[in-house]
Amino acid sequence: MKWPLSKKMENYLLACIIHKDEQLTTYCADHSQLCCSKCVELNHSKCSKVTPISELTNSQPTDLQGLSEELETVMAGIKSLQINQEASIQSLQRTYKEHGAVIIEQLHGNLNTYIDKCCNSSVGTSNKNLKEEICWSVLSILNEFDNITVKELNKMKDEVISIKGSITSSIHKCTSLHNDLLQLLEIVQKIGDNKELCLIASIKCKHIIQQALPLLGKSGKVFKVQGKSEYNVRIPSDSVTFDISGICVLPDGQVLVVDWTNKNVKLLNQQYQVVSHLDVNAWPFDICLIAPSEVAVTVNASNIHEVQFITVNQGKLVPGRKFQLQHECRGIAHQNGDLFVTSGKELYKYTLHGKLICRLYEALGYNTVYKCAVSPTGDRLYITSRYHNKLLTLARDGTLLATYTDTALEWPRGLHVTPAGQVLVCGHWPHTVLQVGWEGQSKLATLATKEDGVWRPLSVCYSSTTLSIIVGQSGNNILVFRVE
Ligand SMILES: [Zn+2]
Ligand SMILES: [Zn+2]
Repeated sequence: MKWPLSKKMENYLLACIIHKDEQLTTYCADHSQLCCSKCVELNHSKCSKVTPISELTNSQPTDLQGLSEELETVMAGIKSLQINQEASIQSLQRTYKEHGAVIIEQLHGNLNTYIDKCCNSSVGTSNKNLKEEICWSVLSILNEFDNITVKELNKMKDEVISIKGSITSSIHKCTSLHNDLLQLLEIVQKIGDNKELCLIASIKCKHIIQQALPLLGKSGKVFKVQGKSEYNVRIPSDSVTFDISGICVLPDGQVLVVDWTNKNVKLLNQQYQVVSHLDVNAWPFDICLIAPSEVAVTVNASNIHEVQFITVNQGKLVPGRKFQLQHECRGIAHQNGDLFVTSGKELYKYTLHGKLICRLYEALGYNTVYKCAVSPTGDRLYITSRYHNKLLTLARDGTLLATYTDTALEWPRGLHVTPAGQVLVCGHWPHTVLQVGWEGQSKLATLATKEDGVWRPLSVCYSSTTLSIIVGQSGNNILVFRVE
């Protein structure tokens, strides 16, 4: 019989995914994995159902047509993700440049105003005095510019570099997965009816697709809770009670919590001990990650509506720049340089410098647009509507895609999307933490309830470093659920 694949394709198909120089020899049914001899030795020596590939019998013929369609769909998803990521890099650089130009223009304006003022008020004074005064004014403006604005600009430049770095690394992952998918597609189209090759190809395709889904923010993996711990994050200067209205985890595993009642932000180490705190000038509501050691916090009072940036520097919280918005600042989320802020009834999109891009969504009534979260690819936005007891899913442009209601979600408050696209949402009154599918249409699991100690949850966040879900509550300890 004519061998359907070229030697190169065959080598690719039979190569172990983990140990690229080894050939696949066996299949472990316990792990549903194709293994080389190294895999077996390292990870499957205790597995009960390890069979040589040559002895595998495929009772059902592989659906090659379905498989190639599935591969093509995933490849299209990866291509569009890459296009969006490249656009994000362009837009990051462009908005940074624009912001720089605005700052220079402001400086120019300030200098002119001072000089005009000096000239107008100098009637009768000698030219020498006037010159001196102008020089002093100009110097003081330039000094202030050096001390504050240039520092802020440098900080923003670091942000741009860091965000660009993480987008670039994701683009590389996309390219490598796309190559794998393309090779498999070619193989699937040429493989013919060789049963053994079909079986290997179909298992390998499923494996690569499973790797691609989290990158596309479409992981359907349901969390399983393995254990629970409780931590008190009260500090001596706090009042009797506290409300952890926002949580954010840094890539190194440190946790930041926002305490609404005590108007502060607290930094917790990996053991969840408070190691630093920062008082803010009004009620802080929510927090999101901007760069590996930088976060943004929404802060509110009757006359204050601002986004405050905070840097974590060697175990200390250091306040950075802030900008004022024209509306109340509630929920906040960040993705690739886009900042999403809710006002209680609207969802807005801003640049990292506080320039309004657009209003994405508007609803009637207060607390209808409460917290927000963005999928890792940016193509879906999630909103908790506390007033309507709903979880809303929007497209990138704000179009409503899905609405989810559940009695277990009464007064939904805490909301978070993991880096793989898993959606976590808390019901305040039913005291629940749920996982909802990335489409925002159905519940995948009830992860924790009152029986697990959940009591009036306000915020939720997943830590990929410690593989745990952290829940912030009203007047209660924070809960940490170890998950698999
Ligand atoms: Zn291997
Ligand atoms: Zn195994």
